[in-house]
Amino acid sequence: MNVLFATPECAPFVKTGGLGDVSAALPPALARLGADVRVLMPAYGDMRLAGELVATWSLPAAGDWPAAQLLQVHRSGSPALLLLSCPGLYARGGSPYGDAGGQDFADNARRFGLLSRVAALLGTTASPCGWRADVVHANDWPCGLAPLFLRQAREATGAPVAAGVLTVHNLAFQGLFPLAACEALGVAPAHRGIDGLEFWGQGSMLKAGLQFADAITTVSPRYAHEIQTEAEGFGLDGVLRAQAPRLQGILNGIDTAVWDPATDALITERYGIGRLEAKAVNKTALQAACGLAPRRDRPLFGHVGRLTGQKGVDLIAAGADALVRGGAQLVVLGSGEPALQAALSEAAARHPTHIHVHLGFDETLAHQIVAGADAFLMPSRFEPCGLTQMYSQAYGTPPVVTPVGGLADTVTDALSGGGGFVMAGATQQAFDDAVARALSLWAQPRRWRAIQRAGMARDFGWDAPARAYLDVYQRVAQEMGMGLAP
Ligand code: ADP
Repeated sequence: MNVLFATPECAPFVKTGGLGDVSAALPPALARLGADVRVLMPAYGDMRLAGELVATWSLPAAGDWPAAQLLQVHRSGSPALLLLSCPGLYARGGSPYGDAGGQDFADNARRFGLLSRVAALLGTTASPCGWRADVVHANDWPCGLAPLFLRQAREATGAPVAAGVLTVHNLAFQGLFPLAACEALGVAPAHRGIDGLEFWGQGSMLKAGLQFADAITTVSPRYAHEIQTEAEGFGLDGVLRAQAPRLQGILNGIDTAVWDPATDALITERYGIGRLEAKAVNKTALQAACGLAPRRDRPLFGHVGRLTGQKGVDLIAAGADALVRGGAQLVVLGSGEPALQAALSEAAARHPTHIHVHLGFDETLAHQIVAGADAFLMPSRFEPCGLTQMYSQAYGTPPVVTPVGGLADTVTDALSGGGGFVMAGATQQAFDDAVARALSLWAQPRRWRAIQRAGMARDFGWDAPARAYLDVYQRVAQEMGMGLAP
């Protein structure tokens, strides 16, 4: 089974969120199960590449598409990386999606149109690199046009064409662009309407993927149901309901090579379920690094993530004073909406020895917070899967979460013997109540240890999810008459 995993980001080279972690961990898990996997992503300007360049292929200019190159990079222990090099489109500052100010690049349809086009090409007999995918696994809106291009290739030729699988990591981001760009992107006229990629007068790369993928997955079973409702469907719930027979949720895993307190090189003191007392060293180090009062007798809450309304960061900011009044400390790492950054910074200014806010992206500090905090805050309004609540459980740092999406699928409340605190809803009252509950249990060390252990005992590994993805690949490949061995 040849699988092309197409993605706009992959840790540790380029990461803005959970998709970067998934792109780093799922392909090796698939390879361990016997699949021949390659990861396709753009060659961005400032990538920290680790690997050996083993082959290069030229992709000639075609129509409105610029010439590009495909570079194959060998990574030890991970599937080969295929880098799509086109400096005019990808070698620029900022994130994969926008400039340093957070503004989306105006030519994203073209940038990710090319990524999707090359992903689809690698699933046809015209593949330039002597290897052809049986399944093209497209991730999120930046790869959304790939299933459409595969469909067009199938319509145009009798030769075999790969099946297309789309995974939705976050339905809120849809890759909208002017319909007038369809011509240059090579979207056939028949696919430009409401049964194709048209979405309220614009083109939607995500909708293209949803309409033309042979299978759709999303990153937790609960989210797969939620996005079929009007309340959570971001205008695409009707499309998703129509595609329901092809839609399933597969829970993300966590990469234990990167996120394991027993081996984590980024934390001060390593520990495990049998050596939980060593976790306290990480708390002391975190307090010192963040300029907080060095109080072992104060519970320390942590948060790492995009500072957005989706993540319920406004609840954290508004609850910060009460948290300090309850005797706790708080460390927040993230960047995002200016108003939320300001609200958190003001809370830190009011309580300099009890609240620390670090604005920015810092992988090392993220690990130190997950290890050093006593409890983790993740009151998301919606959460496709969420990884940090799984990391924090693995690190004995019980998360406070809302009962939505992947949070509901991965956190069981302490009241039911689980490793976290599930809020009654995404409200301030529910947040304050859950924090108060965590505070009172933290003050009872034996009960707290039991909650920590319940979280640490869970298996969040990638093996089961990777098997579920292979089943999906197998099914779509069979539907297309490929009859492949697993
Ligand atoms: P999402 O993909 O919605 O942003 P997830 O919980 O699935 O949320 O994944 C977020 C990933 O990004 C985690 O690995 C988290 O540690 C990381 N992350 C988010 N913000 C930061 C930050 N400011 N610094 C370091 N890592 C971050």
